[in-house]
Amino acid sequence: MSSLDGPDEDNPLGKPAVPDHVQQAIRTLIEWAGDDPAREGLIDTPKRVARAWKEYCQGYGEDPAIHLSRVFEEVGGYDEVVLLKDIPFQSHCEHHMAPIIGKAAIAYLPKDHVVGISKLARVLHGFARRLQIQERLTAEVAQCIWDHLQPQGVAVVIEASHACMTARGVRTPGVSMITSRMMGTFLDDERSRKEVLSLMGY
Ligand SMILES: [Zn+2]
Repeated sequence: MSSLDGPDEDNPLGKPAVPDHVQQAIRTLIEWAGDDPAREGLIDTPKRVARAWKEYCQGYGEDPAIHLSRVFEEVGGYDEVVLLKDIPFQSHCEHHMAPIIGKAAIAYLPKDHVVGISKLARVLHGFARRLQIQERLTAEVAQCIWDHLQPQGVAVVIEASHACMTARGVRTPGVSMITSRMMGTFLDDERSRKEVLSLMGY
């Protein structure tokens, strides 16, 4: 049952084929978990899981900085905080490959130019769609904006719940983790930091 041979009835849209060894790995996992990968309901599961994982991890195929390459220099004298908050995102923890589901607040204090506001969310998703730890995700988003937008300050706060903690291990639903990264003005100046955190709702 090679997915590389011939037409795939299960795949009328012609999605990319899932190599056999990848499907086999998922069958092995199903078996290890205690089920029979050959039973009807699970027959196509390896292909679906593999494609889902390609999607969860599509950040590996992109450089998030690309979203910051088009900037607007006409800011009309605006020199206050630009903040995008409650940005929902999904990632997966690199220790358990379990979902990390949360929201982010991303702010910067522009110097000479601004970006389209949706670009901040795109940068977040570019890094989130990889195997991650929340601390690194937070730092990577902040660093990317710092490097490519060269603002006076960057503040990123991420609040997320980790399925590896809520659904297994200590099984504590409702717990969320908050991480933050402050750079430039937001790091150096306490008043600016307090201001941005309060705009973010913290
Ligand atoms: Zn984990």
